[in-house]
Amino acid sequence: MRPRMMSELVDLMQPAAVELFGDDAQVGPDVVIDNREAGPGAVFVAIPGERVDGHRFAEAAVRSGAGGVIGMQVTEADVPHILAEDSVQALSWLARGIVREARARGLLSIGVTGSSGKTSTKDLMAQVFEAAGPTVAPAGSQNNEVGVPLTACRVDDETSFLISEMGARGVGHIAWLTSLVGLDIGVALNVGRAHVGEFGGLEVTARAKSEIVADLPADGWAVLNFDDPLVAAMRETTQARIAWFGEGELEGGDLRVTARDVTLNPLSQPSFTLHASDASAERSAGVSLSVIGRHQVSNALAAAAAALAAGLELDLIASALSGATPRSQWRMELHPRADGVLILNDAYNANPDSMAVALRTAVELAAGTRQEHPEAKVVAVLGDMLELGPLSADLHRELGRQAADAGVNELVAVGEFADDIVAGAEEEHLPARATVRDLVADSLNLGPGDVVLIKGSRGVGLETVAAELAAQD
Ligand code: ATP
Ligand code: MG
Repeated sequence: MRPRMMSELVDLMQPAAVELFGDDAQVGPDVVIDNREAGPGAVFVAIPGERVDGHRFAEAAVRSGAGGVIGMQVTEADVPHILAEDSVQALSWLARGIVREARARGLLSIGVTGSSGKTSTKDLMAQVFEAAGPTVAPAGSQNNEVGVPLTACRVDDETSFLISEMGARGVGHIAWLTSLVGLDIGVALNVGRAHVGEFGGLEVTARAKSEIVADLPADGWAVLNFDDPLVAAMRETTQARIAWFGEGELEGGDLRVTARDVTLNPLSQPSFTLHASDASAERSAGVSLSVIGRHQVSNALAAAAAALAAGLELDLIASALSGATPRSQWRMELHPRADGVLILNDAYNANPDSMAVALRTAVELAAGTRQEHPEAKVVAVLGDMLELGPLSADLHRELGRQAADAGVNELVAVGEFADDIVAGAEEEHLPARATVRDLVADSLNLGPGDVVLIKGSRGVGLETVAAELAAQD
């Protein structure tokens, strides 16, 4: 945000019940929840966490330069405080005020949701919108009730575009986030089985995700995946204009964005012709992505459709997509080792749909390396997919079968459901074994051209395996 007086923040947060304690002072531009990130003038938002209470760090934040505190009680920190009943709500109200003011002067607010690919799409989208004007987008995967407002607080007087990644673990979550950042463009990528245990079924997941388009204005845009029936059905739940993206023949809508002649190079980087049509024109431009995997075509189309809806030029979009590089850790990170082994680190998270995508990418990469190393194999190191509830055992068994069907040559499973993964793999005669995380890296027998996919839910922490393997160079 631009630097402001604490009393102005109180005004921005209205109609919330908050009060200023202490003398007024100028604060900003940073709004932080981690005292180690507090720069000069920062507003430190003290959030009580499960293990530590942020209020205890207010003084440290001030020593690092913070000029004001938002919290639920007065702390030892000798700076003005804004007091509220709930710190996260206070942060949300501040974000709402900042974005409301910015939208009144023309800021475009864009939100993206989906079961898989939110961060990947957000990163592509950020690089497209940055080519057109000052853009605020979250670092990494900040997509919840803290990350979305914290990101939005970075909007200042210069910002043209705000991109929010929106995650949901239940109905009402995305509606809350959109009430804060008031979307002009809402993007729905896919409805899959991520967190299906918490949602209670695909229909409920679809309803929760549809909140991304429910409150769009009539002159806003719902950017919807034509290829996913549960997403396509969201057109019934919005009054906004429809921008379809997808890889088949698209019909209807106010804008259609598709990819033609998709090819993959040996590193699984897709190239295609980006094609856009609306009532007045048809246009196309070539795109060569630097990010890895066939699935990125769909993510790039979503980003392109959102950008076209925002009025950006197709040629600018195509060249920004082609120049876009991966920005977020542990998602399809490719480490080519000096000995010719390719480590594909996708250890950030996992659900049944993203597993399928990752397996396919690993097998495609091996098809590329086999041109030089005909013996190259695909080794999948797979960890638990968490939050799948009662379906867990079945879905892990299915994962084992899926790995075999995809063309994996060797499977190593880690975690609570490792035996289920192995059982599924063995049903399809794929050599598979269960082990513990710390033993994986040294147990693999790798040669030039081999591709090792590492993927599991966040809680399994497989990035350590990826790091060990990458270091074995
Ligand atoms: P989270 O819910 O953890 O924030 P996310 O939706 O942000 O996840 P990403 O981090 O972008 O998802 O991607 C995670 C993984 O999902 C990728 O590394 C890839 O394996 C897979 N993935 C990415 N895009 C897609 C897509 N469009 N469809 C299916 N899977 C995808
Ligand atoms: Mg994410």
